[in-house]
Amino acid sequence: MEKLQNYINGQWVDSHSDHFENVLNPASQEVLAQVPYGNARDVADAAEAAVKGFQEWRSTPVSKRVQYLFKLKTLLEDNTDDIARTIVLESGKTFIEAKAEMVRAIENVENACGMPAMMQGEFSEDIAKGIDEYMIRQPLGVCACIAPFNFPGMITFWFLPYALACGNSYIIKPSEKVPLTMTKIVALMEQLDLPKGVLNLVQGAREVVDGILEHPAIKGISFVGSSNVAKYVYSKGAANGKRVQAQGGAKNPVIVLPDADIEMTSQIVIDSVYGCAGQRCLAASTIITVGEHKDITESLVESAKNRKTGFGLDSDVQMGPVITAESKSRVQTLIDKGLSEGGRLLVDGRNAQVNGYEQGNFINPTIIEDIPLDGELATTEIFGPVLSLVHINTIDEAIRFINAGKYGNMACIFTSSGSNARKFRHEAEAGNIGINIGVAAPVAQFPFSGWKESFYGDLHGQGKHAVEFFTQTKVVIERWLKEWNRKF
Ligand code: NAD
Repeated sequence: MEKLQNYINGQWVDSHSDHFENVLNPASQEVLAQVPYGNARDVADAAEAAVKGFQEWRSTPVSKRVQYLFKLKTLLEDNTDDIARTIVLESGKTFIEAKAEMVRAIENVENACGMPAMMQGEFSEDIAKGIDEYMIRQPLGVCACIAPFNFPGMITFWFLPYALACGNSYIIKPSEKVPLTMTKIVALMEQLDLPKGVLNLVQGAREVVDGILEHPAIKGISFVGSSNVAKYVYSKGAANGKRVQAQGGAKNPVIVLPDADIEMTSQIVIDSVYGCAGQRCLAASTIITVGEHKDITESLVESAKNRKTGFGLDSDVQMGPVITAESKSRVQTLIDKGLSEGGRLLVDGRNAQVNGYEQGNFINPTIIEDIPLDGELATTEIFGPVLSLVHINTIDEAIRFINAGKYGNMACIFTSSGSNARKFRHEAEAGNIGINIGVAAPVAQFPFSGWKESFYGDLHGQGKHAVEFFTQTKVVIERWLKEWNRKF
């Protein structure tokens, strides 16, 4: 059985820890590899290498740094299918979903290739007679990413290309549940021949996170995961003087107005709810119909029943398993809770069985109707293939319900009325808004704008925010003696 290693200072090395856990295929429970649960000594080794790597990397011109990213883009494109297969094996999503996440990863590499222009400074001549002032951007130093399980390939790329292009050295901490994908990508990245220490990977879980939060050489941390951990990482990182951006959990509502196109809405909503088995931070979770709802309800039920669940590499499969047996049991307990709160099952996906994959963590598409708006099912992040359907009388009530929620990752509306869409865009308290869109995922040029408990920090991932996050500004005020002489 393969035992995974860390990548430090341009070499694959054993972890200092002897605690290993199995990496499982969630569709079959097959053991794919063993991952070390690393510790602070592993982080210290990586940080030491990254500090050295930073010295060379920061003085490599940005125009040269992005040449590595151009090669990285080609490398990722040429190996997308292979990487996607690994994503399917360890995360359970379908092959199409896995390829789609790599498209998003590559898009961020492309965007970061514009760094020579994106990190340009500013210059003002004669802020006083003979005195000029300018601002330059310099990298922070060593930065790190702590990633969740649900996008094993994409999420690190919300940060990594920008960090490297800006001149930082980097430490990747993949999710211990899906460590194979980034291990494979880092192995591919060896072909780039980056200076030693610029790119490092440490395997593990909580102890590695704490090691990152406490290591004085690590200056910037990008975290993505559940809100409790995001808050912990943000507060502890900030207390230790680090720059932190921490994306948290979500509970994404979608309003369907009576004037929405039923067929289009139903298809898009179903893809949003059940894509990646509901394990997306932008998965629609609560569908709020306003007014007449018979047709949309029937259409959603029909589509949910017809969705094919199975192993993501098998043909025609539209939805894979959830990540772990614990996750399956947590989601099924939440469904039961919704029923005990008065909800009605329209489609029951509990106890799903897939031929040939009897041990898999499968839950079939589930729809539960008329749950109380303040109940546990309506307010808890489910992170599984469960659609909660609630019926409300007015758009104002629907927006009030959305704004009362603690998360603010995404909110969507389906309508053919421009004025209702505008009202929603203006009033809804969420950072990513979809109008006739089911997964409002910003492309690489835009910030991934979670609000409320879906985000802790100031600067989001991607786009210009990433340039701000991965650089510190230096302002220079400059007078030359000759100018000074002239003045007198
Ligand atoms: P998680 O919070 O369990 O783990 C995320 C990372 O934190 C992992 O690397 C893990 O090793 C580490 N970690 C876990 N518990 C920790 C602890 N107690 N102390 C320190 N570190 C800890 O999240 P997950 O289950 O891997 O991912 C699912 C969650 O991520 C969902 O809540 C989902 O909404 C969220 N998510 C959010 C976004 C976003 O953009 N806002 C994107 C993807 C996923």
